[in-house]
Amino acid sequence: MAQIQLRFYEELNEFLAPELRKVDFTHELHRKASIKDGIESFGIPHTEVEVILVNGESVDFSYILKHGDRISVYPMFESLDISPLLRLRPKPLRMPRFIIDVNLGALAKYLRLLGLDCLYHNNYADQEIAEKSVLLHRTILTRDRRLLQRKIITHGYFVRADKPFKQTKEILQRFNLFCSLEPFSRCTRCNGRLEPIDKKKITHRLEPLTRRYYNNFSSCPDCHKIYWQGSHFIRAKRLVNELTKAESGRSV
Ligand SMILES: [Zn+2]
Repeated sequence: MAQIQLRFYEELNEFLAPELRKVDFTHELHRKASIKDGIESFGIPHTEVEVILVNGESVDFSYILKHGDRISVYPMFESLDISPLLRLRPKPLRMPRFIIDVNLGALAKYLRLLGLDCLYHNNYADQEIAEKSVLLHRTILTRDRRLLQRKIITHGYFVRADKPFKQTKEILQRFNLFCSLEPFSRCTRCNGRLEPIDKKKITHRLEPLTRRYYNNFSSCPDCHKIYWQGSHFIRAKRLVNELTKAESGRSV
């Protein structure tokens, strides 16, 4: 029977059974399989993987496993210098734009509050998320490993934290976004880019006290929600400050 030797590095170990973490181990092959299928059979979405070495040579996901192969699998963003090796993706998406899985609505809201471009709808089907991610060049954020195992997906990330605040920090850290945020530039309800609007045009839509005390407004061109710097803004600003406080060291 064909056997291969495997070792997974760094945070890829989080997906493995405890006895397989950070050690070389032997795996038996029962059928012909690509390395993508081999890796995913351990519950690791291919989107988490950046470099695969087979007997010291880098290979892509289509490589067919052979008896005696020694395989090292490295995650995205591994600190090791892998630049001379073949990466599995041609280049990272520059300013990441996201599509967010249905059960991460609060994360979508927080990221939009920070100005990040996040497509989100609470009734997207998995297939729809996968297709939109490819068509619109968006990175999927999800807590569902099976979604990330779909073959067409090239850019996806499995969110480790389970609370929105920590999830947001995790994304900022993982994608190194602390310097590229534009808080309060985007509609938290629909992702539209906010634009300043003349108070006269919206006076009829304002509550009497808002009309009296505030003069600067912006609105969402897509859903027409109006934004101003009232008490809710002060709360949101506090939240933004907490979310964007950089932490030393790596997350997760
Ligand atoms: Zn909107």
